Amino acid sequence: MSTVPSTVLVIGAGGVSSVCVHKMAMNADIFGDIHLASRTKSKCDAIAASVKERTGQEVSTYEIDAEEVPAMVNLIRKVQPSLVVNLALPYQDLPIMDACLEAGVSYLDTANYEPKDEAKFEYHWQWAYHDRFKDAGLMALLGSGFDPGVTSVFTMWLKKHKLKTIRQLDILDCNGGDHGQAFATNFNPEINIREVTAPARHWENGEFVETPAMGKKVEFDFEGVGPKNMYMMYHEELESLAKFNPELERARFWMTFGDEYIKHLTVLQNVGMTRIDPIKYKGKEIIPLQFLAAVLPKPETLGETTKGNTNIGVIATGEALDGSGEKTFYINNICSHEAAYEETGNQAVSYTTGVPAMIGSAMMVTGKWAGDGVFNMEQMDPDPFMDMLNEHGLPWQVKEMDGPVDF
Ligand code: NDP
Repeated sequence: MSTVPSTVLVIGAGGVSSVCVHKMAMNADIFGDIHLASRTKSKCDAIAASVKERTGQEVSTYEIDAEEVPAMVNLIRKVQPSLVVNLALPYQDLPIMDACLEAGVSYLDTANYEPKDEAKFEYHWQWAYHDRFKDAGLMALLGSGFDPGVTSVFTMWLKKHKLKTIRQLDILDCNGGDHGQAFATNFNPEINIREVTAPARHWENGEFVETPAMGKKVEFDFEGVGPKNMYMMYHEELESLAKFNPELERARFWMTFGDEYIKHLTVLQNVGMTRIDPIKYKGKEIIPLQFLAAVLPKPETLGETTKGNTNIGVIATGEALDGSGEKTFYINNICSHEAAYEETGNQAVSYTTGVPAMIGSAMMVTGKWAGDGVFNMEQMDPDPFMDMLNEHGLPWQVKEMDGPVDF
C-alpha cells in the first residue's frame, strides 16, 4: 500500500464527489495530490474552484468517459495515483475496475454495479473480480458510502464491541430534510428511482424474501427529525451483511419518504415515466427514466434550500458479548443539511456519502485497511473508520434499547 500524502484520482463530479474532494483537500496530510475526472469537465472545474476558495488546495481536472477503458487506462498512467475513487454511477463500476487492473492501481466505490437495462443491483459481478485483484496484488473496496458503507461498519462495530452474534438487524435511513421542491431526489434521480421502485427484499431464515415495492410502512420517531413514515425496501448492503454474518435470522432496510414524494412517484410510475426500457419518440430511442432524470432538479442544486437533518443508523439485537443475555443497541449519526452545505456547498445526502468515501480512501492509502482482492466494508476492522467518522463531520452515538424492535 502507498505512503501518505498520496496521489488520488476521483472519477465523477456530482454531489458525492464534490463532498469527497473537499474533504480530501481538507486532509492534505493524507491526500497530497488530488485529480478529478468526469464526463463533463466544467463540473470538475467548478468543484476545483470551490475547493481552492475554501481550502487553498489545487485539484487537477480532466474530461473522461469512464466507460472507455483504454482512455481510463491512459489517464491513470498519466496521473499515477495510488488509488482510483469511483464516484460516478454504478454503471461505470466494471469498466473502471477493468482499467484499474490494466493500469495496476487499487479501487474504491460507493455503490455496487448495476446493468443499465435491468434494475438489479447485486455484488456478484464485482465479487467475480476478486482473484484478478488478488493476483495483481491490488485492493478493491466496495460500497464506502453511508448505506452501503457506514451501516456495515456500524454493524461490525456492534459485533466487535457489544454483541457476540447478531440475530436481528434493521437499518433505518431517515432524510428529514425539506428542499422546498414539489418533487426532487437527493442523489442521482435515475439511480434513486430505480432503487425505490424495485420490489422490496429482506433477509429471513437464510434467504431473501421478496414483497411488493413500498408494501410495508411503519412510523418511527427519529431523534433530530421527529416521527416519519419509513418503508421497507431492498438495499445492497443486505447482501454483504447476510454473507458476512451468517447467523443473522432477519435483516431489513427502511427508508423514509414523505407523502408528497410517494404521490409524485406513484403518478410517474403509473404513466410509464419510470420505465428503463427504450421507447421510440419522434423517431428517436429514449429511456423514459433518463428523460425524467434530465427534467428533475439536479441533486447538487438542492443544497442551498435544504433544511433539516438526516438520521441514519442500525438497530441490532443479539447475544451480549459480556454474557448478560440478549441485548438491543441502536447506533446512528444525525447530520444537518445546513451544516453540510456551509462546510462543502452540498446537502447532507451527498455529505453523508462523500465523507465515508474520503474515509475509506484514507483507510486504503494509509494502509490501515489492506488486502489483495475485492473486499466489502464488513471484512475490515471498524475501529479506525469509526474514529475518523467522529473526527471528520459524522459523529455517531450508540445507546441500548429496552428490547428488540416491535415492527
Ligand atoms: P450524480 O449524478 O450527481 O454524479 C454522478 C457523476 O458521474 C456526474 O458528474 C456524471 O457526469 C458522472 N458520470 C456519469 N457517467 C459517467 C461516465 N461514463 N464517465 C465519467 N463520468 C460519468 O450522482 P451522486 O454524486 O449523487 O452519486 C454518485 C454515486 O454515489 C452514485 O453511484 C450513487 O449511486 C452513489 N451513492 C451512494 C450512496 C451510499 O450511501 N453508498 C448514497 C448516495 C449515492 P455528468 O456530470 O456529465 O452527468
